Formats: sequence, C-alpha cells, structure tokens
Amino acid sequence: MRVLLIEDDIPIGNGLVAALKAAGMSVDWVRDGLAGQDALRDDGYAIALLDLGLPGIDGMAVLQAARRHGVATPVLIITARDALESRVAGLDLGADDYLLKPFEMPELLARMRVLVRRRAGRATLRLSTSTAELDTGTHEFTHDGQTAILTAREYALLHALMERPGLILSRAQIEERIYGWGEEVESNAVEVLIHAIRRKFGKGAILNVRGAGWLVPK
Ligand code: CA
Repeated sequence: MRVLLIEDDIPIGNGLVAALKAAGMSVDWVRDGLAGQDALRDDGYAIALLDLGLPGIDGMAVLQAARRHGVATPVLIITARDALESRVAGLDLGADDYLLKPFEMPELLARMRVLVRRRAGRATLRLSTSTAELDTGTHEFTHDGQTAILTAREYALLHALMERPGLILSRAQIEERIYGWGEEVESNAVEVLIHAIRRKFGKGAILNVRGAGWLVPK
C-alpha cells in the first residue's frame, strides 16, 4: 500500500516513515505544500497524511486544490492545530479524518485502516443525466454512445458540471474547480478544454449559454 506523507517536520517525518514502513507500507514523503499538491494529483496513493502548517502552500489550501481537481484519495490531517475551527474547516474542505499531534502510532495506523477500507468498500459513484454518465471511480465518460477515459482536467470540468445538470457554471466557477491555487490560467483555457470534450463526445455533451457559461443538459 502506497502512502503519501506531506510533513515538513524532519524528526516527525522520519519517525512516521520508519513506523509506516515497519507496518509494511511504502511511503513517499514530501516536505512542502507545493510538492504535496503535485504529489496528491497522483491517484496511486491509498491514503495521504497531511500536515497543515507547511512551507509554501498551507495544508488547507493543498487539500482544497486537490478536491477541486477531483482527487478522491482519502486524506487524514495530522496537525498540532487543535482549534475547533481548523478541525471543522479541514473536514469541510474534504479531509476524511483528523488526528492531533502528538499521537500514538497504533491509533494512526488504526485510523488509516478505517479510511482505506471505507474507500475500498465504497461503491463507484456514477453521475448521470438522460444522455451522459460519468464514472467517478474510473473517470470514464459516456455521451451519446461515445465512451472514453478523461484527462484530469476534462474530468474536473465534467465532474463540476455533472454534479448539477442543467445548472450554468461561469468561466470563473469552472476555472476555480479545475485549476490549482496560484496556477497560471490561459484566458481561453476553458474553451480549449470544452472544445476537446465536444470533439470526443459530440457537441451536445456541453452546452454554451452565451455570456453566462456552460452546462450539461439534464
Ligand atoms: Ca508543520
């Protein structure tokens, strides 16, 4: 089982890596927020352990960007911040659990097992409309008899639209969903992405409402 550890404290990181390896896991350890954000987009991790106080990008922002990109990896926040607000904010942003430092390894391992089991047992979620279906497990999209696996950004865009069929999303709302914090966005990037999706799945896959934005029909 591959584990992503995002932690800037060297003694804590060393201790965690040793303990996780001793428990039979393979661990990739990154030490700042930006590297954490990049690594989280790799969907090969069974779980990620995320510290909040990180150099570069704060752990909360790392988590928020990952969920906006459709990253479904379970995230367990490990932090010394014990304020109730930050705990609630972390869970609101898509963390699966929260463990306060200092913690005992057996408790961390037990909580990790729960999250990994929960993920494995979770039925694949399909978002459907009358003409399209998006599989959130495989990132496969079907429209009008055309089926293909989406790129990460195509998936993030279609996921945003398929969550609320019939609802118009503006360019700003779409950009917010598919690009990371601080990422440069070309002015026509959304159009380019939508053009690519229409080419694969037909023009009716995403409809444009001039001056307002885009939607998938119900
Ligand atoms: Ca830290």
